[in-house]
Amino acid sequence: MSSLRLESIRKVFDDPNEGEIVAVNDVSMEIEDGEFMVLVGPSGSGKSTLLRLISGLETLTSGELYLGGEEIGQTKPKNRDLAMVFQNYALYPHLTARGNMSFGLKMQRELDEAEIDERVDEAADIMDIGDLLDKMPSELSGGQQQRVALGRAIVREPAVFLMDEPLSNLDAKLRSQMRTEIQRLQSELDVTTIYVTHDQTEAMTMGDRIAIMNHGELQQVATPLEAYYEPVNVFVAGFIGSPSMNFISMTTDWSNDRLTLENDAFSYGTSNVLGDELTEDDREILLGIRPEDIDLVRSPTETSVTVEVDVIEPLGEKHLLYFDIGRETYIASVPGYYQIEGEDRIHLDIPEQRVHLFDAESHRTIKNREPASDDDARLGEQITVNDR
Ligand code: ADP
Ligand code: MG
Repeated sequence: MSSLRLESIRKVFDDPNEGEIVAVNDVSMEIEDGEFMVLVGPSGSGKSTLLRLISGLETLTSGELYLGGEEIGQTKPKNRDLAMVFQNYALYPHLTARGNMSFGLKMQRELDEAEIDERVDEAADIMDIGDLLDKMPSELSGGQQQRVALGRAIVREPAVFLMDEPLSNLDAKLRSQMRTEIQRLQSELDVTTIYVTHDQTEAMTMGDRIAIMNHGELQQVATPLEAYYEPVNVFVAGFIGSPSMNFISMTTDWSNDRLTLENDAFSYGTSNVLGDELTEDDREILLGIRPEDIDLVRSPTETSVTVEVDVIEPLGEKHLLYFDIGRETYIASVPGYYQIEGEDRIHLDIPEQRVHLFDAESHRTIKNREPASDDDARLGEQITVNDR
């Protein structure tokens, strides 16, 4: 059993200039045996520190760490049965690929030379680098070096892989190729893996589950789709999904069954779909709507807003439309077959079923969108308000 359990993990650094820095604050979670868990969050959110705490490269300020039920929080790194792969794969420059891959095993002195060779050949086979084993790191491309670094982790047959942004030094094409390769590798070896990235797309596409961090605190642990459809707060809602969810600051006005934006720049008519969750008058909330959930409509509705398109980014299958409501800029993503240009006036509908509501103060979710929508595409219509 190689499940990993984190209980109230905390790390405080004493920085000579900044004083105490709480890098990881009270993080608890469980990673199941064989699971691919992605730790995602912006730069500085504590991902690397958490991974280093698990590996033993940093000491815990407090909290407990269990590998397969055994407490390992005070165990020396080399006795933790974990293998770490870094962004800077740091191969030994004076050793061949084979030398790099076998180095750790030789140090351990548990296997004889033939056994080590066998392990290295197996790992090289998995990573498809058999023909590179006699080359020096300087003769290898970035992608090949990263494969050797992964191979070096594989030969150790660890209970858990820890990977800290292993692909961020690679160019876009290679990165997406290695992404697939790491997923294949992980499912083939069935090794419990924690994979750190700041890239939400990488998290969404790779993780069985993702753990979202911000300011050293764990925000949510969820499957990628749960995080997208059922975020627990504004941070997760804004971080997962691209372009980001729009947030409109509004106030409840139930005498008129509406949500209103200051200065009446926007007024949103609601039925009981939203009202049921939110009965208080004059309550400040954030209305969340994803760009892709906004619809272009022919005529205004209770839930639409009429805007002028500020900037349009045609991406082929869709257009990204930038527009202002009040003092803020928002984004809608609409199908690319619509004929729209900058400065066109359009009606954008914000369907009630797709709206998320958040408390303006605590930023916690009050209500998430309904799971399904069944709207028809309105193919090829000219949908702008103005005449051409
Ligand atoms: P991430 O990997 O998510 O970018 P880190 O775990 O590297 O974040 O950093 C989290 C916070 O802890 C940051 O504010 C960083 O400056 C701080 N930090 C990390 N390591 C140290 C250290 N050795 N000494 C002082 N502060 C540190
Ligand atoms: Mg980091």
